[in-house]
Formats: sequence, structure tokens, C-alpha cells
Amino acid sequence: MKPIRRVLIVGGGIGGLSLAVALGRRGIQAEIVEIKSEHNVYGVGIIQPGNALRALNGLGLMERCLAEGLQIDYYVMNDSDGGFIARMKLLRIASPDIPAVNGLPRTALHRILTETANALGARIRLGLSVQALEQVGDEVDVTLTDGSREKYDLVVGADGIRSRIRTLLFGSQFDPQYTGHGVWRFTTTRPAEIDHQIMYFGVGVKAGIMPVSKDQMYLLLVTNEPGNPRFEAAQLPRLLRERLQSFTAPLVRQIREQIEDPARVIYGPIEEVIIPSPWYRGSVLLIGDAAHASGPHVSQGATMAIEDAVVLAELIAEGEGAEKTLARFMERRYERCKFVQDISHQIGQDGNLDDPVLCELRNERMRAAFQDPQPRPHERRLAEPI
Ligand SMILES: Cc1cc2nc3c(=O)[nH]c(=O)nc-3n(C[C@H](O)[C@H](O)[C@H](O)COP(=O)(O)OP(=O)(O)OC[C@H]3O[C@@H](n4cnc5c(N)ncnc54)[C@H](O)[C@@H]3O)c2cc1C
Repeated sequence: MKPIRRVLIVGGGIGGLSLAVALGRRGIQAEIVEIKSEHNVYGVGIIQPGNALRALNGLGLMERCLAEGLQIDYYVMNDSDGGFIARMKLLRIASPDIPAVNGLPRTALHRILTETANALGARIRLGLSVQALEQVGDEVDVTLTDGSREKYDLVVGADGIRSRIRTLLFGSQFDPQYTGHGVWRFTTTRPAEIDHQIMYFGVGVKAGIMPVSKDQMYLLLVTNEPGNPRFEAAQLPRLLRERLQSFTAPLVRQIREQIEDPARVIYGPIEEVIIPSPWYRGSVLLIGDAAHASGPHVSQGATMAIEDAVVLAELIAEGEGAEKTLARFMERRYERCKFVQDISHQIGQDGNLDDPVLCELRNERMRAAFQDPQPRPHERRLAEPI
């Protein structure tokens, strides 16, 4: 089979742009089609753990992300009254000299990736998507939504949790599954002393404070939302305030007082996409959330999308055909992404227990576990080379 030279990336989000950068660094100019007609992204922050920083370093982007972000090295875990449970020092994965985690506004990450992809010659077309795909020999014949047709050696569906490419490949078989939890976020000003993440574990509810830049942090709230309700935007501040009612921790109380503007509150159901290996058919592959969306509990969704991009570009540059490249991609990515999904699911269930006795036992377990300063097994696993 011929080497992969012409790559179409569907979706200009974190995974798609990272892939364009990774290919550009290896001399391959990818094409992106992005359904949105403008480069924009939700204005909430993103947490970049050490393995994200390591992958971004491979793309030559870590320094820029660090310069625009806020670095942190530990979490504090409290109960809903602010009572101390444990302090967790995080593993420095990228390098012993680089703090464990970087908090960054999503808009900054998007800008950094877009500027770099453009500078490396990627062709990014906005307001465009894929209408149909057909494998013809070694190539994929793609019909775009503007009616034009083009042939590619590889098509990569990086079109997120509601991926059209996934539907074209697999129908509705692997549609997102609702976990029973919803996540609320409210961005506010960061006081100087909030230089670490703080989690508050209540009964049936978990809050967090995430610094995401020198000036900003966000409040996160994970709630049990039976039946996957939909809420009107105008109601979001009131609903969030109600759901924070049981928290008496002073910082959460202070932030709760500020929640008024619907434009500053974001709510979404937590959903997962679980597809058995392989995530491709012919020369069409899914990466990122399209293939393996997980809950936000270990801040690894975007990280996995960036790692997917780094590994895929490395394999493409080796010059094999699509069949071998995609099989090797699955060997390197499937177990790792499955591990992240499983651990995130487990932490999500544990964090939102609604039986007070089980919650007390959970808090005791955390107290005991984090006495040990050694990195936790999941951090050691994430530190392994990709
Ligand atoms: C509340 C919350 C908090 C999170 N926090 C973190 C965190 O702190 N750290 C972390 O690592 N991860 C986090 N994640 C996960 C992270 O946001 C996702 O895993 C990440 O955005 C996935 O990147 P992606 O490129 O696969 O998809 P996306 O970033 O969703 O990008 C998909 C792109 O495809 C485009 N698109 C969609 N459909 C089409 C189409 N038909 N044709 C063309 N383009 C299309 C979209 O417009 C979008 O630009 C969080 C997720 C949630 C829900």
C-alpha cells in the first residue's frame, strides 16, 4: 500500500488541530474541514496534566501553553463544609522541572493550535463538513457539504462527541451514553492564594475550584441529574445556586454569591463514547472524543486527543500504508484510552455517591490513600511513554 500523504481531518477542535500541527512538523500539510463558520470555542478553562504537557512539548507548544496558563502541583480535597480530607501532590510527568499541571483558558489553547497549524501550512476550511465517504481502493472518496468531491489517503474523524464520521462508519451503534451526571461550570476571578485545585466532596454532589490562568479560575459542580434533563439558559444561575446550597465551605459560598449572569454558567450532561477496537474502517479513523469520549473527572479527554494526534502523525511519517498504520495506531492507543475511560468512570461514580454512609467511607478511604506521598497507580500509568 502507498504511504499516506493526503490527509483530511474532519473537525478543527483540540484533536484535529493537534493532528494538523503534528503532521505539519513532519512535513505533511493536512486539510481540516470544520463545521463551525468561525474559529471559536467555549470560554471555560482546560486542565493540562503532565502527559498533556509532554505531548504538547513534542509539538513544540508546551512553552506557549505554560506562558499563558497557571501551573499547579497539588490538589486539596475537602468535604462540603471545607473540612480537610487530604492533600495530593501530583506527579510531574513532563519533566522534574515542570509543574505537574497547567491550567489554561480553552480559548488560548485553541488560538495556539490554530496559529501553529496555519503557520505550518495546514489548509483549514470553515463552515464545511463531510456529506459522504466511500472507500475506493487505497483511497477515500469524500463528498463535502458544499458538493465538492476529493480523494484522500486517510480521513480522520476528529469531530467530537457527536461525530458525524462515527455515524457514517458505525451508524448509531456507538452514540454517546449518558452517565447520570451533569457538570456545571462558572468562570470567575482568581484570588492570588488559589494556586492549586480544590475539590469538595458532598453527598451526591462534588464541587471543585480550578485555576486556569493568572487571572481566572472556574467553579465546577458535578451533580446527579436523573433522566438527562435539559435546562433553559436563563435558569442556569438559579439552578446552579440551588445545587450549591449544601456547600458551606467559605470559598464555595463566596463564589455562589456571584452566580447571576446566565452567560457565565455552562451546563452539560456527562457522556461517554465506548467503541471496541478498532476505531477505523478502511482508511477512515476516529480520534479524540469521537472515538473515546470520557467524563471530565481526571482531566484527560483533551489530553488523550492530543496524544492520539502525536502517535498518529509519528506512524504516518514512517511511510507505511493506511492498513498497517491504523492497526499499529490501535495497538498503541486502545488500552491507554480505555484505561482513562474506566478510571474516569469509576472516579465519577465515587464522587457522586448519594448515600451519606458510603460518602463518609469514601472520604476515609481518600484520607488513608493520600497519606502515602508516592504517585498513585493511575498517574504512574499515565507517565508511561506513549
Ligand atoms: C465539563 C468538561 C470539562 C473538561 N475538562 C477537561 C480538562 O480539563 N482537561 C482535558 O484534557 N479534557 C477535558 N475535557 C474533555 C475535552 O473537552 C475533550 O476530550 C476534548 O475537547 C476532545 O477534543 P476533540 O478534538 O476530540 O473534540 P472537540 O474539542 O469537541 O472538537 C471537535 C471539533 O469538531 C467540530 N465538528 C463537529 N462536528 C463536525 C462535523 N460534522 N464536521 C466538521 N467538524 C465538526 C466541532 O465544531 C469541533 O470544533 C472536559 C470535558 C468536559 C465536558
